Amino acid sequence: MIFTELFNPYHSKGVSWSTVCPITRIDSETLVNPMDNTMKKVYDSVIARDPNQPEFHQAVEEVLESLVPVIQAHPEYLPVVESMVEAERIIQFKVPWYDDSGKLHVNRGFRIQMNSAIGPYKGGLRFHPSVNQSILKFLAFEQVFKNSLTGLPMGGGKGGSDFDPKGKTDSEVMRFCQSFMMELWRHIGANLDVPAGDIGVGGREIGFLFGMYKKLANEFTGVLTGKGISYGGSLIRPEATGYGLVYFAREMLATKGKSFEGASVSISGSGNVAQFACEKVLDLGGKPVTMSDSSGFIHDPKGIDREKLSWIMDLKNKRRGRISEYAQKYPGSTFTASEPEPASNGLWNIEVDVALPCATQNEINGEEAKMLVKNKVMAVAEGANMPCTPEAVEVFLTNRVMFAPGKASNAGGVATSGLEMSQNSLRYNWTREEVDSKLDQIMVDIHKNAAETAEKYGMPDNYVAGANIAGFLKVAEAMTAQGLI
Ligand code: NDP
Repeated sequence: MIFTELFNPYHSKGVSWSTVCPITRIDSETLVNPMDNTMKKVYDSVIARDPNQPEFHQAVEEVLESLVPVIQAHPEYLPVVESMVEAERIIQFKVPWYDDSGKLHVNRGFRIQMNSAIGPYKGGLRFHPSVNQSILKFLAFEQVFKNSLTGLPMGGGKGGSDFDPKGKTDSEVMRFCQSFMMELWRHIGANLDVPAGDIGVGGREIGFLFGMYKKLANEFTGVLTGKGISYGGSLIRPEATGYGLVYFAREMLATKGKSFEGASVSISGSGNVAQFACEKVLDLGGKPVTMSDSSGFIHDPKGIDREKLSWIMDLKNKRRGRISEYAQKYPGSTFTASEPEPASNGLWNIEVDVALPCATQNEINGEEAKMLVKNKVMAVAEGANMPCTPEAVEVFLTNRVMFAPGKASNAGGVATSGLEMSQNSLRYNWTREEVDSKLDQIMVDIHKNAAETAEKYGMPDNYVAGANIAGFLKVAEAMTAQGLI
């Protein structure tokens, strides 16, 4: 399985993916431009400053490639690009906490405040042992473009900790969250920085974090999103990323006269995004056949129906169990462990019409992308952030597989967080239908904006370029107007 190949090992030596994995560019009209010398200089300076941040380099490289035609047309925006690759502020702090047996543990907490040109910093908190500055900077950088694409006034940020909530009791998670917030609270605020959830941070963690913030700040304010409905949360926020992903994919399929009706769909992950992507695929008449967690994936050729999905939700959200239990529960389905299985026995070698990677970064590599192409996948839409390596993206684009980058297709989560902020400011709650229809419209608009921008810059059907350029232009205009400080 690919999770061990988390990044291009040559990045730290300053070698880009296009050098490591040269791919013949068969149709310059639909592919991202290779970096020109101007962009290469920006990229080299990013690597020189932080040589040990491969995930951040990967995210920056993709954006710089997309922006080549923009900077050629608007050289005045080059200083904006040079400025955007540097975070406005990075906060790192110690998070000491005691487990149930009284033993002290010390984790690291972070908040990356990347860009505030168009609004307060906004972006999730990730609790996962892999968390480090490189991963959070990549996520914060992506978030800037994503938030811009939503059309809502939100800057970009991201944070988290190398704490692993897996296997911890509720009271341990609570003590950790309280200690984390003891430091974070002084750096955030409803008009300054509004964190939300991400991997390992769901409703339970947001509740504990909010309670501690309220106590320390001595005020009730919408400083976090993803809150419970009883204390200022928005209906549809838990569903939003997964639903929005499928709305985006629906729009993309429609441009080629296709739909989810009768389509088989592979989904990775079994957390928040994966669960609600699965639910919306079912709503639209599709047939989800896979789900996974870090231990492996299940394949159910008969399809994961509503009853099975509700069992998975209970397993993951309440019992906090492993996905392998699905195969014991439902005869006819199989579980395949992630290690040491070869990729050819993996989730992405299953024949499907649509693939929705919803677990984590770099989960589909070039080899797996080729398997999907061989099996005639129609569309791949990223629910996770950067789940496809640059090599995989090139494989999809060169083979004309419809491909939706996460910063466009998973923007529904943060968009609905923006709607939660609006409701908190209004001291008012919209109905489920109202929020869902606003979310749907935002995803339709993001799709249209990305598609039209790609077309305008001579790269039709290239949603990667369209999303990067459209997201960039709004932030660039705001940064320029504010004097690039
Ligand atoms: P959850 O923690 O709810 O679920 C994550 C899922 O991915 C779990 O099934 C987890 O398995 C699996 N996973 C996580 N890390 C790894 C790994 N290294 N290897 C294999 N499997 C892994 O997170 P979300 O669903 O919220 O987030 C999933 C992705 O979507 C992330 O990339 C996140 O950044 C992105 N995203 C989330 C948004 C949101 O609103 N929640 C918004 C936009 C993007 P296990 O339980 O075994 O760890």
